[in-house]
Amino acid sequence: MAIAVDLDEVLAYSLKSEIEWHNFIHGTNLKRDDFNLVEYWKIWGSTRDEAVKKILRYMNSDFFDAIEPVPGAVEGIDYLFGLDQLVVITGRTDEVEKKTIDWLEKYFPQKFTELLFANSYSSLGKLPSKKSDLCKLVGAHTIIDDSPSYATDCAKNGIRTVLFDNVWNQETILIPNMRRAYGWKGCKEKPGVINLIK
Ligand SMILES: [Mg+2]
Repeated sequence: MAIAVDLDEVLAYSLKSEIEWHNFIHGTNLKRDDFNLVEYWKIWGSTRDEAVKKILRYMNSDFFDAIEPVPGAVEGIDYLFGLDQLVVITGRTDEVEKKTIDWLEKYFPQKFTELLFANSYSSLGKLPSKKSDLCKLVGAHTIIDDSPSYATDCAKNGIRTVLFDNVWNQETILIPNMRRAYGWKGCKEKPGVINLIK
């Protein structure tokens, strides 16, 4: 059995880098709080297809290569590593497999036994996978994810789900099997991942 961990905005502080890229390239003044929707293209004022191409340009930029870990993630993974086998299940497209493997090896060496891509935003037209199906494939009983749709799908399919608090999941209704974590460490009265998974 295993614990599945999402990549972007749970391990990798991607939104910070993505905003810096967008503001630099497109002359915008976006801030983290503007991203209260998972559908980026609505915030960018473009169509979904345009957004997929935009994400690909971003993923080929130096900004993407400079993503840092989410605060507390390195210590959090060290903690989980002692509990169970760990796998990464990301919504990313496998077009960035090499960069993703290199990034994980740089910040989380030897911590994960599998890396699976759900292909949410494939520019090659690949069909996305449900994360609940990928969890079953690798025997994950638990997932840590910040996406409202992925988290809800997994919880509905009997997977213990830790919803990693983020700007775009503030309205997400907690259903059975789902609890909200406030970062990795949390704070007083607001549990973090390491308080919820023991
Ligand atoms: Mg995420």
